[in-house]
Amino acid sequence: MNKLSEAERYLLDAVRRGDEQGWPQLVDRYQGRLLAFARSRVRDAGEAEDLVQEAFIGLLRGLEKFRGDSSLETYLFSILRRRIIDAYRGKAKSLCLLRDTLRAGDDDSDAGPESRLPAPDLTASTYARNAEHRGEMHSALAGAIDELVCGYKDALNFRELQIIELVFYAQLKNAEVAEAVGVDAGHVGTVKHRSLARIRKHLLDQVAPGSPASGSSAAGTSPDPPDSPDLPDIPDALLTAVWEDHRPSCPKRSTIGGYHLGTLDPGWQGYVDFHLNRLGCRFCLANLDDLKESEDRAHLDRLRQRVLQSTVGFLKKG
Ligand SMILES: [Zn+2]
Repeated sequence: MNKLSEAERYLLDAVRRGDEQGWPQLVDRYQGRLLAFARSRVRDAGEAEDLVQEAFIGLLRGLEKFRGDSSLETYLFSILRRRIIDAYRGKAKSLCLLRDTLRAGDDDSDAGPESRLPAPDLTASTYARNAEHRGEMHSALAGAIDELVCGYKDALNFRELQIIELVFYAQLKNAEVAEAVGVDAGHVGTVKHRSLARIRKHLLDQVAPGSPASGSSAAGTSPDPPDSPDLPDIPDALLTAVWEDHRPSCPKRSTIGGYHLGTLDPGWQGYVDFHLNRLGCRFCLANLDDLKESEDRAHLDRLRQRVLQSTVGFLKKG
């Protein structure tokens, strides 16, 4: 499944055919959000810049292999994330991607790649017999989660979307999710069970299309699919790892821009606010920071132009 936007495809094509403008344009487009993300995890500003530089080098090195399974932005974020983890090897197994807003009492200072989430140990899992299988499993799961999330978004079912983000992305317990969203824990359990059933059904459809479990699958509206006894349970850690790699629920940058300007419909405005400020998604916070900063730069540029234009007649010539 190709996730590249038209602009991303255009830029990548330009870089691949050696167009001189292609690479600078690509770097311009992504460096701000990447730097904002690195700065949110690495205290030293120079080190954050080094890591962003390495991420761009990593993109060039892997350019031939990159097939667009994720957006270019998500791909760059994932390279950067790995670089940050590598830089702190020994100190961090994984990188906390959510700003700590959900659990009271957790000491997650806003610098340093320390993490409260253990890196998922997938080696023992049925889902990871070998690297190739792991890759296939990841993309199949990503497709399944994507379908689930799109269903919720299309149905404007933001309440359930928030619940599954808190369960699968933030790994909160049912009772914690219930408190964060203001529903009872039983409802959280139901939503989780239903979501897992849909994910399993999607996987099963891929293995055996047209099986009795197949059918319509619009999340949030259709009846629950039956449990699929042929598939083993999907470990929560695996779902979180796939969620972190593919960012299925992250709003588009243009949507984050709309949120910042306050121009979204109330449902979307509330959901993006939740994703940024309650869930604390660092990828999207990095985008918001970058948008704010470019807005400041644009304001200053415009002001400069105005001042220069309006003062041109006052300057003595010669
Ligand atoms: Zn996000």
